[in-house]
Amino acid sequence: MLFDTHTHLNVDDFDEDREETILRAREVGVKGFALVGFNVNTIRRAQEMIQGNPDMVGIYGWHPTEAIDYNAAAESFLLKALESPKVVAVGETGLDYYWETSPHDVQEKVFRRQLAIAREMHLPIVIHNRDATADCYRILKDEKVGDFGGIMHSYGETDEWVQKFLDLGMHISFSGVSTFKKTDDVRAAAKLVPDDKILIETDSPYLAPVPKRGKRNESAFVAYVAQVLAETRESSLADFEALTFKNACDLFRLDFDGTNLTKRG
Ligand SMILES: [Zn+2]
Repeated sequence: MLFDTHTHLNVDDFDEDREETILRAREVGVKGFALVGFNVNTIRRAQEMIQGNPDMVGIYGWHPTEAIDYNAAAESFLLKALESPKVVAVGETGLDYYWETSPHDVQEKVFRRQLAIAREMHLPIVIHNRDATADCYRILKDEKVGDFGGIMHSYGETDEWVQKFLDLGMHISFSGVSTFKKTDDVRAAAKLVPDDKILIETDSPYLAPVPKRGKRNESAFVAYVAQVLAETRESSLADFEALTFKNACDLFRLDFDGTNLTKRG
């Protein structure tokens, strides 16, 4: 039983074969999909998909690479989208110093704005961090993220950093990055995360895990991530899957009856 806590099945890359892709994931045991919408178009598509699929929930926010386009209209659109009972978190937001498509101060402002929204709406926050670990940490600490919690998504940092983010009250989610040959430091970090704070994800269509590296990623491949992490943590695969599924339901405040994910009342 797998929960892909961060997938973008709602992007154009899946326009040709979205239904088949979802079925492949269900066939390998994916029982929960958190669709992440990060701008107007991807939020709209996620809303459509969630309507027809009881195993899907939404995470909506504004991506740091697009922070420059965040304005009053974007915010009111986002606030409205976040009102849906099938929304489980705010994000992905954070900082991206790799692409440099938005100035750092603008990214920080938009990031802090979404932290305030998450606090106000009692929702956890989903953090995208690329080459900006120290600044992400500073802002999360400053905004007392532990009051409402959140996820360091697609964790790609060291074991030293993981302890600091855990101390802030964050959950840590591992993606295909944890399966790459050269990411021993990420696997070392995965060993340190307590049982109740670890999550798994694909971040599809990006970052496909070994043995699919370089291909378009899809939610079915979360099974490869689970396998590597179960081995790393010297856990049985079944136990690790059950654990990460439960953690996702607890953080997102979801009940699961075998088919439907519903918000706890
Ligand atoms: Zn993402």
